[in-house]
Amino acid sequence: MKVYGLTGGIGSGKSTVARLFHGLGIPVVDADVLARDAVAPGSPGLAEVVATFGDEVLDAAGRLDRHALARVVFNDTEKKRRLEAIIHPRVQMAFMSEVQRLGASGHDAMIYEVPILFEKGLEAKFAGVVLVCAPLEVRMARVIERDGIDPADVRARMRHQLSDDETRARATYIIENDADLAALERQVEALARDVFGVDIQRAPGGTPHA
Ligand code: ATP
Repeated sequence: MKVYGLTGGIGSGKSTVARLFHGLGIPVVDADVLARDAVAPGSPGLAEVVATFGDEVLDAAGRLDRHALARVVFNDTEKKRRLEAIIHPRVQMAFMSEVQRLGASGHDAMIYEVPILFEKGLEAKFAGVVLVCAPLEVRMARVIERDGIDPADVRARMRHQLSDDETRARATYIIENDADLAALERQVEALARDVFGVDIQRAPGGTPHA
């Protein structure tokens, strides 16, 4: 199985690109979803988080309260390391089982969406890395519109991520998502065709058929 990474800054359009690839028949696994599943209600992962950090990290319904957990591990390297040690092996196991499942159903290539792929220095693990880029102010506007939050919160989230300037040189393929969705679709289709061998027929002016 060839695994390609998909990454990009907050609001760059990773999830949109992931959806487009998926629509063209290329399987996409999202690391954030695997990490959420690792601590889903009733899971052994959640039990371990509670045993380690106490039940103040649970909300009233017994689900993981991410904000409470973030406050507990904030600025504490050792606690962060212990949390990683609970989540990371579970994400790895889930990822491996997805690779197996997709391989068994006949796929020979897939995409793994990892928001902090470069920050974690993971690029060498992939057959190639697709980076979605967009100017900072465009990303800010998209996230504010999508999440209804204020610019200061978006900036705070972005502080933990590398800029496009720092990651471009480390990417194998770059998608420039600085225009409309049609322009984005065209770039995803080109990669689907050239990298994943998808046979795309586009009716003149119409939508593509993979
Ligand atoms: P995050 O890291 O915050 O999860 P992301 O990189 O996955 O963000 P998306 O959720 O795909 O980004 O895109 C952010 C928002 O911008 C979404 O509401 C999406 O619909 C919109 N968007 C993405 N690309 C475009 C585009 N080319 N034109 C217009 N809107 C876009």
